[in-house]
Amino acid sequence: MKHFYFLLLLASPIVFTNCGNAQTPSNEKIKMNTNSAKNPAYSKTDTSVVDLKEDQWQKVLTPEQYYIARLKGTERPWSSAFEKSKEIGTYRCIACGNALFKSDTKFDSGCGWPSFYEPISKTSIIYTQDNSHGMERTEVQCGRCKAHLGHVFNDGPKPTGLRFCINGVILEFEKK
Ligand SMILES: [Zn+2]
Repeated sequence: MKHFYFLLLLASPIVFTNCGNAQTPSNEKIKMNTNSAKNPAYSKTDTSVVDLKEDQWQKVLTPEQYYIARLKGTERPWSSAFEKSKEIGTYRCIACGNALFKSDTKFDSGCGWPSFYEPISKTSIIYTQDNSHGMERTEVQCGRCKAHLGHVFNDGPKPTGLRFCINGVILEFEKK
């Protein structure tokens, strides 16, 4: 009997240690992915305007997503797997779930960022004049949550002649 208790005592810390270790990867996973349970703004059906405070965005987005979406950052060219992707489906805003582009309007622009010639609808995107960095450009933002997406240029292919140059970090792909 004494021997049994000794074993139990020995075993207890190991059990607790294992529990602690087991929780670490799942916490990491939540941090890496924006998910609807954690992000009150995220919805694939609600089209109403999202107005979260900056500290709320900071909590629900990864640092990389926050840098692009809220600080108007730019990802490194050729760093997004979406740039070369030919998969059929819909590209959504990763911050709020708003549908932005269809894969059939995606084209290989060679500029280093995922490029599209047309947004999914007129209201899916907001256009803003951007005179930063000594350039005159048109910034494109998510029509629902105002996340910075990238810029639009008028050197795209037919039928629109537009090139929406979008940061892959802020996109979420939904396969058809
Ligand atoms: Zn959005």
